Amino acid sequence: MVPVVALVGRPNVGKSTLFNQLTRTRDALVANLSGLTRDRQYGDGKVGAVPYIVIDTGGISGDESGIDAAMAGQSQTAIEEADIVLLMVDGRAGIQAGDEALVSYLRRKSKPFHLVINKIDGVGEEAALSDFYGFGIDGMHAIAASHNRGISSMMQSVLSDY
Ligand code: GDP
Ligand code: MG
Repeated sequence: MVPVVALVGRPNVGKSTLFNQLTRTRDALVANLSGLTRDRQYGDGKVGAVPYIVIDTGGISGDESGIDAAMAGQSQTAIEEADIVLLMVDGRAGIQAGDEALVSYLRRKSKPFHLVINKIDGVGEEAALSDFYGFGIDGMHAIAASHNRGISSMMQSVLSDY
């Protein structure tokens, strides 16, 4: 079975940017405004010899904020479909309420997940990571999706069991 990886997280953290890097397409709608990717989107990628399916999530109207946005039905469906979830957060913004809600949700569902700390360009990896250590998550990865930085080593680690 090809593993399914879902990208979830608050609007504007960089999910569609990562999706584009992983699938090497420009199909996902990367917006400067949050919430413009309206539908779940599927793509496929490969790390080494291991193929995977990746799901981008959007479906945010723009009216929701914080926890409501993070927990939009779209994300829940993608989480159910996924073998592994990549929970993306903004390394510049630090922990937000929506991030905490998603961590709790994933733990409640016993869904394997990794924490992806994005936008570390310009802030420095250690500073970006330190805010999030309190979650106590084993799999933490610092990346800069728009700079294609940290992505391939992250995917090797995420899919090491496949
Ligand atoms: P989504 O709503 O989670 O899908 O977020 P997007 O992928 O649409 O990205 C939101 C904004 O963050 C866009 O303006 C991206 O160009 C920007 N962005 C994404 N990744 C990075 C990154 O690694 N560094 C910086 N500085 N900006 C990023
Ligand atoms: Mg998006």
